[in-house]
Amino acid sequence: MGNCCPKGTSRFLSAPNNNATDNEKGDSGLNNAENATPPSSQNGTIPPRTGAPSASPNHATPKPSKHPQIGPVLGRPVEDVRLTYTIGKELGRGQFGITYLCTHKQTGEQFACKTIAKRKLVNKEDIEDVRREVQIMHHLTGQPNIVELKGAYEDKHSVHLVMELCAGGELFDRIIAKGHYTERAAASLLRTIVQIVHTCHSMGVIHRDLKPENFLLLNKDEDSPLKATDFGLSVFYKQDEVFKDIVGSAYYIAPEVLKRRYGPEVDIWSIGVMLYILLSGVPPFWAESEQGIFNSILRGHIDFTSDPWPSISSQAKDLVRKMLTLDPKQRLSAFQVLNHPWIKEDGEAPDTPLDNAVLARLKQFRAMNKFKKVALRVIAGCLSEEEIMGLKQMFKAIDTDNSGTITLEELKQGLDKQGTKLSEYEAKQLMDAADADGNGTIDYDEFITATMHLNRMDREEHLYTAFQYFDKDNSGYITIEELEQALKEFGMNDERDIKEIISEVDSDNDGRVDYDEFVAMMRKGNPEAGANPKKRRDVFV
Ligand code: ADP
Ligand code: MG
Repeated sequence: MGNCCPKGTSRFLSAPNNNATDNEKGDSGLNNAENATPPSSQNGTIPPRTGAPSASPNHATPKPSKHPQIGPVLGRPVEDVRLTYTIGKELGRGQFGITYLCTHKQTGEQFACKTIAKRKLVNKEDIEDVRREVQIMHHLTGQPNIVELKGAYEDKHSVHLVMELCAGGELFDRIIAKGHYTERAAASLLRTIVQIVHTCHSMGVIHRDLKPENFLLLNKDEDSPLKATDFGLSVFYKQDEVFKDIVGSAYYIAPEVLKRRYGPEVDIWSIGVMLYILLSGVPPFWAESEQGIFNSILRGHIDFTSDPWPSISSQAKDLVRKMLTLDPKQRLSAFQVLNHPWIKEDGEAPDTPLDNAVLARLKQFRAMNKFKKVALRVIAGCLSEEEIMGLKQMFKAIDTDNSGTITLEELKQGLDKQGTKLSEYEAKQLMDAADADGNGTIDYDEFITATMHLNRMDREEHLYTAFQYFDKDNSGYITIEELEQALKEFGMNDERDIKEIISEVDSDNDGRVDYDEFVAMMRKGNPEAGANPKKRRDVFV
């Protein structure tokens, strides 16, 4: 995946077409219906899930062919995951996927591989869901509490998502093992969970299937980091967009989903259900049948009389009530939850102001010199459609008049909708930073370049492609003249400081930039990339 484009060409020269989003598909049913098993009331804990029918792992290898076969799910050439990874024992399973431990053959590094059997994808919507799952995981890349997607593969029988390994298992099992959490422990866990929800929402994504099975622990430690996963039911959304399809898992479904009119607030409801379970060990809405559970949800009565609720603080109950408010408009937002006194009880204030991804990335971009900006532009042109689909959706959401460009006013309003108020001056500064050619608006290419996550460039082939873009004569060095020419190509040659940029980067003072100096510049100020220096000089030599 992610084949780099030929030197100097951008794969996305035109603005995205603004066709309708895919929320109008028919009722796909309750996708995780097997989770609707009523609780076994003997011990009062949430019930274990009944497993999906077992599917034997597929060991088919695609036959080599002259013309690569295009996989119908991911829409790109089929690729055998087993050429790169050894697939090991099963780690867990859900409705669509069975997840296996897998090991990178060359590096020995371990990952998790979620294998989705294509025969389970019975209609167009199912295929769309998998495609979107990949796009959304790419879109959320670099977020510390979201499982990182390493790569996606499609062969004849299956789609494989290779992800960061969460060796600590599901939060679900930890809750079962504990019975329930202390208020302090629950508050700390909820804080992380709400921050994840806020991140998703600020990136234009509704998860739609939040439940303890879809939160994983990175390792077996008591204080292991928590990671959200399973974006199989997630969707991109725009402000005020209304969704109708009933999806989710019975206990955690918000009442407005059952009424087929909903938006991002459903995620808060689901984690409100999780909070109730964390504190008491039982789900707030349950009955002997799925329909019974739904009726209970629609009624919305929360039992605070049974044990252990009488001994739980009134602040905790207040928060549960405010997250499980029937009217989504009255329900607390992620930001409000983080500011509730109970969650702040152990003294730790939430990270305020909450990070708005677009804003943070625009600011980061603003601080870069033009050399780096052009290099990022080249790298952005190398990213695959599935990697940038999320940013494309965000661009469309901000470009309200569908003109293919974002004006100053649209940028301000777009960030305002996400809860970030900018002064005229700040907005103008960000605008100027992203508007590389200085024509007064941000076009699609400029937007992707300025907002892509910087971990994208940590791929060696991307850095190398960008270097080659500048090094027109293939000498192994970028000269002042070459940099000048490259800036000119992007309408950024109004600078008088090219010499200054070069001298900043040129650590051996020979008046030109070699590959190592280039890589050092690209990684400078990017902590994630810096922490993981992967040098492969052999690519260049
Ligand atoms: P489904 O869409 O079928 O529910 P999930 O993405 O939830 O699939 O994965 C199913 C199960 O596989 C999870 O509940 C978990 O037990 C296990 N699993 C998924 N991803 C990972 C991972 N990155 N590391 C470890 N286990 C995982
Ligand atoms: Mg799942």
